Amino acid sequence: MSRFWSQIVRELTPYVPGEQPRQANLVKLNTNENPYPPSPAVLAAIRAELGDDGARLRLYPDPQGTVLREAIAEQEGLSPDHVFVGNGSDEVLAFAFQALLAHPEPLRFPDISYSFYPTYCRLYRIAARQVPLRDAGFALDVSDYAGGGPVILPNPNAPTGRAIARADIARLLEANADWPVVIDEAYVSFGAESAAPLIASHDNLLVVRTLSKSYSLAGLRVGYALGHPGLVEALVRVKDSFNSYPLDRLALAAATAAVRDTEWLARTSAAVIESREKLSADLAALGLEVLPSKANFVFASHPGHDAAALSRALRERAIIVRHFGAQRIAQWLRITIGTPAECEALVGALREILAQAA
Ligand code: PMP
Repeated sequence: MSRFWSQIVRELTPYVPGEQPRQANLVKLNTNENPYPPSPAVLAAIRAELGDDGARLRLYPDPQGTVLREAIAEQEGLSPDHVFVGNGSDEVLAFAFQALLAHPEPLRFPDISYSFYPTYCRLYRIAARQVPLRDAGFALDVSDYAGGGPVILPNPNAPTGRAIARADIARLLEANADWPVVIDEAYVSFGAESAAPLIASHDNLLVVRTLSKSYSLAGLRVGYALGHPGLVEALVRVKDSFNSYPLDRLALAAATAAVRDTEWLARTSAAVIESREKLSADLAALGLEVLPSKANFVFASHPGHDAAALSRALRERAIIVRHFGAQRIAQWLRITIGTPAECEALVGALREILAQAA
């Protein structure tokens, strides 16, 4: 059938389904899901939306997602016209690539960053310039982004977990004042500084967030963007041309309850941060190099052991972590922060594997 495929499709690589195995009882530390159940308010909101007979499901949802946008705007001290909501931040990012990042000048992003950026560039025929992270520990230097042209950066970066200070983002915005700059804050609640306070003074900044990690709602698929109403309007135009109803009723109700429960977010983020610091110390004690992380994962490498082999050995013990094929990070593993018990299981298994190999 592939003779019917467009050139664009021929160039795309399929997602590896192995990262979402159907096997039960795995210690799943490979796709940065939150180990804790979502806020109880989320369940209550879904039940309320369903009602006794589900009759509301007959009706289309609000195409503007107004209630959710209002709830997000309130948390951020912005007005709802600064907020765009979509079906996971992957979709919000896809809209941003089409609406804001497609220019004759190449889109710049780090050579080690979220794998969807080059994919979207291929899909939407956007010229890309991958800017090397020159630091040995993969720290990002914003002065590498001087000179103009659109930019997208994850903060904290993925898969390294390294964060950029808000003052550096401000410098980046000022050096690129005539260009859109998208900051992908998928992991921001785990200790990095958000760029959102810069929106009031910078009309070129779009901040993209997800409810998948910090709110434990990867299964619901909700993401959003914050920015000047002119940028949000561009996203709305693209969205309306694809699907006027990106969020279903249950997702809208659940996400609204989630963002209002600030106490739950603070408590669970603090628990993940505490586990991250303990896991980082435990891995370092086993001889691994662990990058300083502000995300719900750590990026780690053992100087004496092949990362692919370590990943396979862990998988044999029903623990899955992420190993990327790309050459520059082939010696690194990205490990999601699980519950304290899951982190213990990982450290115990690694200790055994390293002892056997010695
Ligand atoms: N941005 C980054 C940097 C990510 O790591 C992810 C998760 N894979 C996403 C965006 C997308 O998250 P979601 O579509 O679940 O909102």
